[in-house]
Amino acid sequence: MELIDTHCHLEAQAFAEDLPAVAAHAVAQGVTAVVAMGVSPADFSAQADAMAVARSAGLRVAAAYGSHPWWVERVSPEEAVDALEQVRAANGSNPVAVGEIGLDFAGKTDDTDRQNALFVAQLEWAGHHGLPVILHERKSADRLLYWLRRRQHAGGVVHGFTGSLQQARQFIDQGLYLGVGGAITHPGAHRTHQMMRELPLDALVLETDAPNQPGHAHRGERNLPGYLPENLAALARLRDMEEGALLAQINRNTRRLFGDV
Ligand SMILES: [Zn+2]
Repeated sequence: MELIDTHCHLEAQAFAEDLPAVAAHAVAQGVTAVVAMGVSPADFSAQADAMAVARSAGLRVAAAYGSHPWWVERVSPEEAVDALEQVRAANGSNPVAVGEIGLDFAGKTDDTDRQNALFVAQLEWAGHHGLPVILHERKSADRLLYWLRRRQHAGGVVHGFTGSLQQARQFIDQGLYLGVGGAITHPGAHRTHQMMRELPLDALVLETDAPNQPGHAHRGERNLPGYLPENLAALARLRDMEEGALLAQINRNTRRLFGDV
């Protein structure tokens, strides 16, 4: 059965030494495909190279491109949109989403005006081209919802969600899915567990955010796309479901969102 990591960072420095082995490990663990995120135009060509490396190890790789809020000091809204245009025009690059984009109000950068401008420019571009968005949300759920309600968009994923159940439901009302990542594997993450029990199953997709956000069994290490089955297993336990039945539903969600990746 398909097992798709909807969020990882293949060109990350943490994978520079052994990406073929990382991709082969994912394949050996049953991961069939990943969606590789973009973080800034300066990294898009390294991302494309890393995607090719992962493909030659037998992993299917789909691409999302975008400018992450952490790079807001380096990328203007115009540059971010120009880069998306170039990617779209490039032969065979076929992005399935615009991401990773979003807002981070947890202190990495205080420049909220610039962050909003960078985010909205890319949200509008994605909506115009009918592409889903992959959202980075850190203490910014209400502001993201504000923009989603005011701009035409084609849905997407809230990744690494930190907000409340009520905010999660509002994202779902806006046609977004929630990414289920390593946070669910931490025994003390009661609020996340409660939320993942209560949210509708047809609103969830699986992700790792590798090499970031390792699960409980891998604290202090880099995360790997090959750890995705651990997130599926944790979700199956929380939902008291058989893994195969759960994955079948998750795969329907993933396909609805990205088509065939
Ligand atoms: Zn990410």
